[in-house]
Amino acid sequence: MMSNEKQTIHDFDINIIYEYFSNTERQGPGNSKETLKALSFITGLTEKSKIADIGCGTGGQTITLGHNTSCEIIGIDLWQDFIEKFNRNSFNQNLQDRVKGIVGNMENLPFHEEELDLIWSEGSIYNIGFERGINEWRKYLKIGGYIAVTENTWFSEERPEEIQEFWQKAYPEIDTIPNKVAQMQKAGYLPIATYMLPETIWTDYYSKQALRIDDFLKKHKGNKTAEDFASSQLYESNLYHKYKAYYGYMFYIGKRVK
Ligand code: SAH
Repeated sequence: MMSNEKQTIHDFDINIIYEYFSNTERQGPGNSKETLKALSFITGLTEKSKIADIGCGTGGQTITLGHNTSCEIIGIDLWQDFIEKFNRNSFNQNLQDRVKGIVGNMENLPFHEEELDLIWSEGSIYNIGFERGINEWRKYLKIGGYIAVTENTWFSEERPEEIQEFWQKAYPEIDTIPNKVAQMQKAGYLPIATYMLPETIWTDYYSKQALRIDDFLKKHKGNKTAEDFASSQLYESNLYHKYKAYYGYMFYIGKRVK
């Protein structure tokens, strides 16, 4: 075992991570079927509605939202290359008039209060932290608007030490379902839906990565950052297979009520 195995994705040179993820349709655990399922809980969207997709990456799910609503949609991500790829895809799908990516920071969103009908964020809110995100973003939603986010979550009150330690370090805000729902309610949302994403969301994510890891390592032969990153991803994947009864991604959908 290597000493770096407990490092997390957050500890590595961001350019390496960016490169590793730039050629996948999605940069986090998710797929269009699950995006559409979550969308089915949202009512009242019209062509006048405005959606923000926060931490959109290359816009895989944003394009899905674009094809399945008539709304104006703004995707926001910190990384310019992701946004450029997103805007090329939007153009190629002829969605460019109402589905656009912009570079921006989820800590300082470029919206005014009560501008949005829906805030979407898959596999991203952990960057700011779930509780901070849902609290800070609420003001941008109209009263009656919705938030739909995915978040890594404990499925039980107690976990084996190895997995507890790993996630405690990687994402200390990981918590149980009732605690996440209570945070939503406290932040001023009516919890509309809370459900588990299927295991395949992670197993597909990791198996797609496994297919690319050899090429990635060949390209960065001798680069310690690349090697450490690859081994940390493999470690995380092995942990998932071992402990998937104890945690996974959940969709949390809420409606702004105050
Ligand atoms: N929603 C996409 C991408 C998830 S990966 C999907 O599900 O496929 C997480 C994304 O959050 C990355 O694209 C990363 O660039 C972005 N990100 C990280 N910190 C951010 C911040 N402070 N503001 C905006 N985006 C951020």
